[in-house]
Amino acid sequence: MSQLSADNRRVGMSTSPTSNKALTNPDVVVIGGGLAGLTAAAVVARAGKTVVVHEKRSTLGGDARSVNKSGFTFNQGPHALYRGGPAERILTEIGVNIRGGQPRTKGGLVVDGRLEIAPAGPTSLLRTRALSLREKVEVGKLLTRLPKLRAAEFGDLTVNDWIADAVTSERAAHMMHSLVRLSTYAKQPDLLSADVAITQMQSALGEGVFYLDNGWQSLVDQLAVQPGVHVVPGEGIDILPEAPAVIIAAGGPKVAEQLLGTTFDVGPPAHASCLDLGLSRRPGVDFIIGCDTPFYFSNHSAVAKLAPAGEFHAAAIQYLAMGDDPDADAIMAFAGHAGVGHDDVVVSRRLHRMTPSSAIPTSSRGGMAGRPPVNGTGHHNVFLAGDWVGPTGHLADAAIASAEAAANDALAALERRAART
Ligand SMILES: Cc1cc2nc3c(=O)[nH]c(=O)nc-3n(C[C@H](O)[C@H](O)[C@H](O)COP(=O)(O)OP(=O)(O)OC[C@H]3O[C@@H](n4cnc5c(N)ncnc54)[C@H](O)[C@@H]3O)c2cc1C
Repeated sequence: MSQLSADNRRVGMSTSPTSNKALTNPDVVVIGGGLAGLTAAAVVARAGKTVVVHEKRSTLGGDARSVNKSGFTFNQGPHALYRGGPAERILTEIGVNIRGGQPRTKGGLVVDGRLEIAPAGPTSLLRTRALSLREKVEVGKLLTRLPKLRAAEFGDLTVNDWIADAVTSERAAHMMHSLVRLSTYAKQPDLLSADVAITQMQSALGEGVFYLDNGWQSLVDQLAVQPGVHVVPGEGIDILPEAPAVIIAAGGPKVAEQLLGTTFDVGPPAHASCLDLGLSRRPGVDFIIGCDTPFYFSNHSAVAKLAPAGEFHAAAIQYLAMGDDPDADAIMAFAGHAGVGHDDVVVSRRLHRMTPSSAIPTSSRGGMAGRPPVNGTGHHNVFLAGDWVGPTGHLADAAIASAEAAANDALAALERRAART
């Protein structure tokens, strides 16, 4: 007997006749209660079909969970929702309220150990001493061209090649690499496809991002209570369930590979080492990135409710390439450029090696379009969702866009089944 049928019997005993039917014989079984699984379930439930989400942990949310530490809300590392992207659109359509604030692009750039103005727009580009006049012209030209680029045309090109084609000076190239790291979380420019870098930078420098009040848990909590979504936490699925339709949304490709007995050709993961800080004093600068060093620091509580009154929450990270070692002292030293010292820290949390992207789009696979499709399981009624699936978006945008697509494919499979019977 599969793990699923054992779960269903257990849950079914304590439910009403209607939910009992939904729990024991759902139209759709979703494996994984992160953003992708919960989004897919909400889309299915809105179409009037019964759906059960199985989550192996006792808590929902996966990498979108948040925890409360001494009154500070810490996400699983710094999280920013890209405005105008698929995640915002789909969550809003489902009825999820996205509350928070948009950080200003104004900030600092650490160059050769000095803090300079980060060139994020025409005025800051003119004012910064981080670049020479020639470097400013190069970066300015590229940033002016950026909104007009068709990202899909750059899928076969690595970020290294794209930047080398666009700028000649080393400092200007470093500057562009730091913007790519900031918007993709990836420090693998020799592999990462330029289409994902361009898509993310267009979005970040265009509509910008949102830091969420009460953390990303606010999205998880709203998705989990969507009408018709039944959730079974604390039980993992280790055998492919028998159901009219199944959506595998269990994070990266590993669980899908185990359940399906197959392997997917995907890029390597992107890693980051994270330091969350609860601070008694506002940092001197709210936002800084490293130009020639792979670090990020941002005062998320500057625009979102994440800290007790009069206190502040900042998140800092070190972007890691394969083989890089996390260095917590170096992350804290980087926060020092924003005026943060050990004495300011009320509470902190280290997450040494996190995986913001489970499989980066690579140029050798044709970029985002080369990721496995939601229906690429070899089963007519089993679908995939996650940040490594489908041609749309990156990070949570990819997870949520593929979840919507998987849910729609599952609904179509149910219709085909109904037509046959
Ligand atoms: C440090 C960090 C920073 C990030 N920053 C950003 C950001 O700024 N912007 C952005 O858009 N995205 C960001 N992300 C990415 C974003 O958090 C993820 O893309 C998104 O949360 C992935 O959702 P998911 O549901 O696909 O996967 P997950 O969150 O991994 O959820 C999968 C769930 O499936 C469960 N599961 C696994 N196996 C089984 C099984 N066998 N049976 C049942 N359940 C199972 C897991 O427990 C988990 O809860 C960041 C991620 C990290 C780690």
